[in-house]
Amino acid sequence: MSTDLGREMHALVERLYPLCRSITGDGVRSTLDIVGELIPLTVHEVPTGTQVFDWTVPREWNIRDAYIADSSGARVVDFRASNLHVVGYSTPVDTTMTLDELRPHLHTLPEQPDLIPYRTSYYEPDWGFCLAQSTLDSLPDGRYRVVIDSTLADGHLTYAEHVVPGRVADEVLVSCHVCHPSLANDNLAGVAVASALARRLAGANPRYTYRFLFIPGTIGSITWLARNHERVGRIRHGLVLACAGDPGSLTYKRSRRGDAEIDRVVAHVLAASGRPHRIVDFSPYGYDERQFCSPGFNLGVGCLTRTPYAGYPEYHTSADTPDFVTPEAMADTLETVWEVVGVLEGNRHYVNLSPYGEPQLGKRGLYESLGGRSDTKQAQLAMLWVLNLSDGDHSLLDIAERSGLPFAAVAAAADALHDADLLKE
Ligand code: ZN
Repeated sequence: MSTDLGREMHALVERLYPLCRSITGDGVRSTLDIVGELIPLTVHEVPTGTQVFDWTVPREWNIRDAYIADSSGARVVDFRASNLHVVGYSTPVDTTMTLDELRPHLHTLPEQPDLIPYRTSYYEPDWGFCLAQSTLDSLPDGRYRVVIDSTLADGHLTYAEHVVPGRVADEVLVSCHVCHPSLANDNLAGVAVASALARRLAGANPRYTYRFLFIPGTIGSITWLARNHERVGRIRHGLVLACAGDPGSLTYKRSRRGDAEIDRVVAHVLAASGRPHRIVDFSPYGYDERQFCSPGFNLGVGCLTRTPYAGYPEYHTSADTPDFVTPEAMADTLETVWEVVGVLEGNRHYVNLSPYGEPQLGKRGLYESLGGRSDTKQAQLAMLWVLNLSDGDHSLLDIAERSGLPFAAVAAAADALHDADLLKE
């Protein structure tokens, strides 16, 4: 199962990789068109100039071509070879200049001389090129033709939502960013895992309603929050998915609250899984959890990554290719999120309807039901814990944490006790 799904997710990453995305523009639209083939999307177009809290939706950026050509006309830096070569949101340029005049507009990574960096200038009008230090070092002095065929014009900011309706209106938010150009782990793996999760939930008849956001980073989440201010109260839990496909181990960054249910659920799932992992505290730096956890909202939204941003040398460089992300890692991220969903779905508060002394399990057939099981001892213990702690205050997750039993065992015990009329929700 995992392998097939992993391969499907990887194929999506490969397909989306060549598109030149940014926080606005046709690259985002093409990306959403492709994701929309897998899951139905509601695409929103928000006009330039729209006020969204303290921000304004910027002009829309589109780019057709860009290059630096030497005196013979040969392209020494070519947008067609890699869209990372152009600083995102570069203003149009068509001129000739000497290499020294050009240098202030060139960005390299001297420490990683063969890689192209990823740079943007969304809110300061500017233009520039990114290139390998080794390429720059090979350029002779002389005059160069510099062309960026881009437009910055009134248009729209584009984002998409996908909703899996649940049995209750309370929502779980799953958010990923779609604003990076040819970078595989830092955005496309998150898009692929979110899409696969949405498809899996579609057949699961979930309790919660699941809302997936495919949005440009920062301005996209701020725009969504501003346009859905009255809906935000329905969000019970949320996860930002990013850097979801590198071979490193999982890292969970807690919500600003630190002890939100999502924080405890992810910690429980990671610990119970035996996977190597890290859990880090909230900080107001990173992905869109910064906006969902801003003090006016303070939502229970954490961030799940594998190796976190800036934690791997390929981060924000031309080395973050589809080869850097693996089907196995994406399948493992998906599986982890699926287990988190399972605990969120199953976590309830029950009241023991027979709280005076232990109820007699044998006469209700609850011992026989445990008979042939290989985990009889654990199942019996789970029943005793659930009965003892189900006073309305303790959730099944509380009971799992306190007993040290896996959540699934506690939830199964609660189901059996509920069927025997010993518990009510
Ligand atoms: Zn990034």
